[in-house]
Amino acid sequence: MPEGDTILRAANRIRPVLEGAVPDEILTPQARHARDRWPQRLRGRAVTRVDTHGKHLFLRFEGGLVLHSHLRMTGAWAVHPHGARWRRASRRAWLVLRARGHDVVEFDGPVLELMTAGRSRFDQRLAGLGPDVLAEPAFDAERFLRRLREDDPTRGIGDALLDQRIVAGIGNIWKAEGCWGAQIDPWRALRDVSDDEALAVVEHVRPRMRRSAEATAGAGRRPYDRHVYDRAGRPCPRCATPIAARGQGDDNRTTFWCPGCQC
Ligand SMILES: [Zn+2]
Repeated sequence: MPEGDTILRAANRIRPVLEGAVPDEILTPQARHARDRWPQRLRGRAVTRVDTHGKHLFLRFEGGLVLHSHLRMTGAWAVHPHGARWRRASRRAWLVLRARGHDVVEFDGPVLELMTAGRSRFDQRLAGLGPDVLAEPAFDAERFLRRLREDDPTRGIGDALLDQRIVAGIGNIWKAEGCWGAQIDPWRALRDVSDDEALAVVEHVRPRMRRSAEATAGAGRRPYDRHVYDRAGRPCPRCATPIAARGQGDDNRTTFWCPGCQC
Protein backbone atom coordinates (compact mmCIF):
# COMPACT_ATOMS: atom_id res chain seq x y z
CA MET A 1 0.00 0.00 0.00
CA PRO A 2 1.37 3.44 -0.87
CA GLU A 3 2.49 5.24 2.29
CA GLY A 4 2.65 8.96 3.04
CA ASP A 5 5.95 9.51 1.21
CA THR A 6 4.54 8.00 -2.01
CA ILE A 7 1.46 10.23 -1.82
CA LEU A 8 3.56 13.34 -1.14
CA ARG A 9 5.82 12.42 -4.07
CA ALA A 10 2.72 12.18 -6.29
CA ALA A 11 1.51 15.59 -5.06
CA ASN A 12 4.96 17.08 -5.77
CA ARG A 13 4.70 15.87 -9.37
CA ILE A 14 1.07 16.93 -9.84
CA ARG A 15 1.52 20.44 -8.39
CA PRO A 16 3.49 22.07 -11.24
CA VAL A 17 0.97 20.74 -13.77
CA LEU A 18 -2.26 21.67 -12.00
CA GLU A 19 -1.70 24.33 -9.37
CA GLY A 20 -2.88 27.70 -10.68
CA ALA A 21 -4.20 26.16 -13.90
CA VAL A 22 -7.74 25.68 -15.19
CA PRO A 23 -7.62 22.11 -16.58
CA ASP A 24 -8.16 22.00 -20.35
CA GLU A 25 -10.11 18.81 -19.92
CA ILE A 26 -11.36 16.59 -17.09
CA LEU A 27 -12.41 13.00 -17.83
CA THR A 28 -13.94 10.36 -15.56
CA PRO A 29 -13.70 7.20 -17.68
CA GLN A 30 -14.84 4.86 -14.88
CA ALA A 31 -18.51 3.88 -15.19
CA ARG A 32 -18.93 4.41 -11.44
CA HIS A 33 -18.38 8.15 -11.87
CA ALA A 34 -20.33 8.58 -15.13
CA ARG A 35 -23.33 10.13 -13.37
CA ASP A 36 -21.32 12.36 -11.03
CA ARG A 37 -20.92 15.09 -13.67
CA TRP A 38 -17.55 16.17 -12.27
CA PRO A 39 -16.34 17.60 -15.61
CA GLN A 40 -19.40 19.88 -15.69
CA ARG A 41 -19.14 20.84 -12.02
CA LEU A 42 -15.42 21.62 -12.29
CA ARG A 43 -15.42 23.29 -15.72
CA GLY A 44 -13.62 26.64 -15.79
CA ARG A 45 -12.37 26.38 -12.20
CA ALA A 46 -8.65 26.67 -11.44
CA VAL A 47 -6.89 24.22 -9.13
CA THR A 48 -5.86 26.42 -6.21
CA ARG A 49 -3.87 23.85 -4.23
CA VAL A 50 -2.63 20.25 -4.26
CA ASP A 51 -1.97 18.94 -0.76
CA THR A 52 -1.78 15.75 1.26
CA HIS A 53 -2.48 14.45 4.75
CA GLY A 54 -0.98 11.05 5.42
CA LYS A 55 -2.17 8.74 2.64
CA HIS A 56 -4.87 11.17 1.43
CA LEU A 57 -4.43 13.54 -1.52
CA PHE A 58 -6.58 16.62 -2.17
CA LEU A 59 -7.01 18.64 -5.36
CA ARG A 60 -8.62 21.93 -4.30
CA PHE A 61 -10.56 23.95 -6.88
CA GLU A 62 -11.82 27.51 -6.97
CA GLY A 63 -15.25 27.86 -5.41
CA GLY A 64 -14.56 25.47 -2.52
CA LEU A 65 -14.72 22.13 -4.33
CA VAL A 66 -12.24 19.40 -3.39
CA LEU A 67 -11.38 16.12 -5.11
CA HIS A 68 -10.31 13.68 -2.41
CA SER A 69 -8.44 10.45 -3.16
CA HIS A 70 -7.05 7.51 -1.21
CA LEU A 71 -5.27 4.77 -3.14
CA ARG A 72 -5.72 1.84 -0.70
CA MET A 73 -3.79 -1.21 -2.00
CA THR A 74 -4.26 -0.84 -5.74
CA GLY A 75 -4.38 2.79 -6.82
CA ALA A 76 -1.70 5.05 -8.31
CA TRP A 77 -1.28 8.64 -9.45
CA ALA A 78 0.75 9.32 -12.57
CA VAL A 79 1.79 12.39 -14.56
CA HIS A 80 2.48 11.87 -18.28
CA PRO A 81 3.32 14.33 -21.05
CA HIS A 82 0.17 14.56 -23.16
CA GLY A 83 0.27 11.89 -25.87
CA ALA A 84 2.88 9.71 -24.09
CA ARG A 85 2.19 6.11 -23.22
CA TRP A 86 0.50 5.70 -19.80
CA ARG A 87 1.95 3.41 -17.14
CA ARG A 88 -1.31 1.48 -16.82
CA ALA A 89 -4.04 0.64 -19.36
CA SER A 90 -6.39 3.53 -20.11
CA ARG A 91 -9.43 1.47 -19.04
CA ARG A 92 -7.96 1.52 -15.51
CA ALA A 93 -8.00 5.33 -15.38
CA TRP A 94 -10.66 6.73 -13.05
CA LEU A 95 -9.79 10.39 -13.41
CA VAL A 96 -7.82 12.34 -16.00
CA LEU A 97 -6.99 16.05 -15.73
CA ARG A 98 -5.25 17.71 -18.68
CA ALA A 99 -3.28 20.95 -18.22
CA ARG A 100 0.00 22.52 -19.34
CA GLY A 101 0.62 19.74 -21.87
CA HIS A 102 0.35 16.91 -19.33
CA ASP A 103 -2.14 14.26 -18.27
CA VAL A 104 -2.57 13.78 -14.52
CA VAL A 105 -4.17 10.35 -14.11
CA GLU A 106 -5.53 8.43 -11.17
CA PHE A 107 -5.58 4.68 -11.84
CA ASP A 108 -7.60 2.05 -9.99
CA GLY A 109 -8.57 4.50 -7.26
CA PRO A 110 -11.04 2.95 -4.86
CA VAL A 111 -11.64 6.20 -2.93
CA LEU A 112 -12.26 9.14 -5.22
CA GLU A 113 -14.88 11.73 -4.39
CA LEU A 114 -15.79 15.34 -5.01
CA MET A 115 -16.79 17.21 -1.88
CA THR A 116 -17.11 20.76 -0.64
CA ALA A 117 -14.27 22.20 1.44
CA GLY A 118 -16.71 22.42 4.36
CA ARG A 119 -17.54 18.74 4.19
CA SER A 120 -13.87 17.80 3.90
CA ARG A 121 -13.24 19.56 7.22
CA PHE A 122 -16.04 17.73 9.03
CA ASP A 123 -15.94 14.35 7.28
CA GLN A 124 -15.53 11.73 10.02
CA ARG A 125 -12.75 9.81 8.29
CA LEU A 126 -10.75 12.95 7.53
CA ALA A 127 -11.35 14.90 10.73
CA GLY A 128 -10.43 11.78 12.71
CA LEU A 129 -6.99 11.42 11.16
CA GLY A 130 -3.98 11.68 13.40
CA PRO A 131 -1.21 14.24 12.78
CA ASP A 132 0.53 13.90 9.41
CA VAL A 133 3.92 12.24 9.87
CA LEU A 134 5.26 14.44 7.04
CA ALA A 135 3.76 17.74 8.23
CA GLU A 136 5.97 20.79 7.75
CA PRO A 137 7.44 22.71 9.43
CA ALA A 138 6.82 20.50 12.47
CA PHE A 139 5.14 17.25 13.46
CA ASP A 140 2.32 17.67 16.01
CA ALA A 141 3.93 15.51 18.70
CA GLU A 142 1.44 16.53 21.36
CA ARG A 143 -1.55 15.30 19.36
CA PHE A 144 0.27 12.10 18.43
CA LEU A 145 1.03 11.27 22.07
CA ARG A 146 -2.53 12.11 23.14
CA ARG A 147 -4.00 9.77 20.53
CA LEU A 148 -1.46 7.07 21.41
CA ARG A 149 -2.32 7.24 25.12
CA GLU A 150 -6.07 7.05 24.39
CA ASP A 151 -5.47 3.71 22.71
CA ASP A 152 -5.51 0.23 24.28
CA PRO A 153 -2.33 0.09 26.43
CA THR A 154 -1.89 -3.62 25.69
CA ARG A 155 -1.71 -3.02 21.93
CA GLY A 156 1.71 -3.55 20.32
CA ILE A 157 3.46 -0.34 19.22
CA GLY A 158 3.94 -1.74 15.71
CA ASP A 159 0.20 -2.28 15.29
CA ALA A 160 -0.65 1.14 16.79
CA LEU A 161 1.66 2.93 14.34
CA LEU A 162 -0.47 1.63 11.44
CA ASP A 163 -3.58 3.21 12.95
CA GLN A 164 -4.17 6.36 10.90
CA ARG A 165 -6.12 7.94 13.78
CA ILE A 166 -2.90 7.93 15.84
CA VAL A 167 -0.47 9.07 13.15
CA ALA A 168 -1.33 9.54 9.48
CA GLY A 169 0.96 8.38 6.69
CA ILE A 170 2.91 5.50 8.25
CA GLY A 171 2.29 2.10 6.63
CA ASN A 172 3.86 -1.31 6.96
CA ILE A 173 7.27 -0.36 5.55
CA TRP A 174 7.88 2.73 7.67
CA LYS A 175 6.42 1.12 10.78
CA ALA A 176 9.08 -1.62 10.56
CA GLU A 177 11.85 0.81 9.66
CA GLY A 178 10.87 3.26 12.42
CA CYS A 179 10.80 0.62 15.15
CA TRP A 180 14.21 -0.60 13.98
CA GLY A 181 15.59 2.94 13.97
CA ALA A 182 14.36 3.57 17.51
CA GLN A 183 15.48 0.07 18.62
CA ILE A 184 11.99 -0.80 19.84
CA ASP A 185 10.45 -4.26 19.49
CA PRO A 186 7.22 -3.74 17.48
CA TRP A 187 5.50 -6.26 19.77
CA ARG A 188 6.14 -4.20 22.90
CA ALA A 189 2.84 -3.05 24.51
CA LEU A 190 2.08 0.68 24.44
CA ARG A 191 2.08 0.85 28.24
CA ASP A 192 5.77 -0.14 28.15
CA VAL A 193 6.72 2.44 25.53
CA SER A 194 7.72 5.88 26.85
CA ASP A 195 6.71 9.11 25.11
CA ASP A 196 10.34 9.68 24.11
CA GLU A 197 10.54 6.20 22.59
CA ALA A 198 7.33 6.67 20.60
CA LEU A 199 8.59 10.04 19.33
CA ALA A 200 11.94 8.47 18.42
CA VAL A 201 10.12 6.26 15.90
CA VAL A 202 8.59 9.31 14.20
CA GLU A 203 11.88 11.23 14.32
CA HIS A 204 13.60 8.31 12.63
CA VAL A 205 11.16 7.96 9.74
CA ARG A 206 10.36 11.63 9.02
CA PRO A 207 13.66 12.57 7.30
CA ARG A 208 13.79 9.28 5.42
CA MET A 209 10.20 9.64 4.24
CA ARG A 210 10.87 13.23 3.15
CA ARG A 211 13.91 12.13 1.14
CA SER A 212 11.78 9.46 -0.46
CA ALA A 213 9.03 12.00 -1.26
CA GLU A 214 11.51 14.40 -2.85
CA ALA A 215 13.25 11.75 -4.96
CA THR A 216 12.68 12.22 -8.68
CA ALA A 217 11.02 9.59 -10.83
CA GLY A 218 14.31 8.64 -12.45
CA ALA A 219 15.98 7.80 -9.14
CA GLY A 220 14.56 4.28 -9.08
CA ARG A 221 11.62 2.70 -7.36
CA ARG A 222 13.18 2.48 -3.93
CA PRO A 223 14.78 5.81 -3.10
CA TYR A 224 15.80 4.75 0.40
CA ASP A 225 17.58 1.83 2.00
CA ARG A 226 15.59 -0.72 3.92
CA HIS A 227 17.15 -2.07 7.09
CA VAL A 228 14.53 -4.66 8.06
CA TYR A 229 11.45 -4.41 5.82
CA ASP A 230 11.19 -7.43 3.51
CA ARG A 231 14.59 -8.70 4.72
CA ALA A 232 13.51 -11.77 6.75
CA GLY A 233 16.44 -14.09 7.50
CA ARG A 234 19.07 -11.60 6.38
CA PRO A 235 21.54 -10.07 8.84
CA CYS A 236 20.55 -6.93 10.76
CA PRO A 237 22.73 -4.04 9.51
CA ARG A 238 23.37 -3.03 13.13
CA CYS A 239 24.02 -6.32 14.96
CA ALA A 240 23.97 -9.08 12.28
CA THR A 241 21.16 -11.06 13.97
CA PRO A 242 18.84 -12.56 11.31
CA ILE A 243 15.76 -10.37 10.75
CA ALA A 244 12.51 -11.96 11.97
CA ALA A 245 9.06 -11.69 10.34
CA ARG A 246 5.58 -12.44 11.69
CA GLY A 247 1.99 -11.25 11.13
CA GLN A 248 0.74 -8.65 13.59
CA GLY A 249 -2.56 -6.98 14.46
CA ASP A 250 -6.12 -7.52 13.25
CA ASP A 251 -5.02 -7.32 9.63
CA ASN A 252 -2.10 -9.69 10.23
CA ARG A 253 0.31 -7.41 8.37
CA THR A 254 3.82 -8.89 8.34
CA THR A 255 6.12 -7.16 10.78
CA PHE A 256 9.89 -7.29 10.29
CA TRP A 257 12.24 -6.69 13.21
CA CYS A 258 15.60 -7.60 14.67
CA PRO A 259 15.31 -9.79 17.78
CA GLY A 260 18.96 -8.94 18.58
CA CYS A 261 18.89 -5.15 19.01
CA GLN A 262 15.17 -4.23 19.25
CA CYS A 263 13.76 -4.88 22.71
ZN1 LIG B 1 19.95 -5.91 15.17
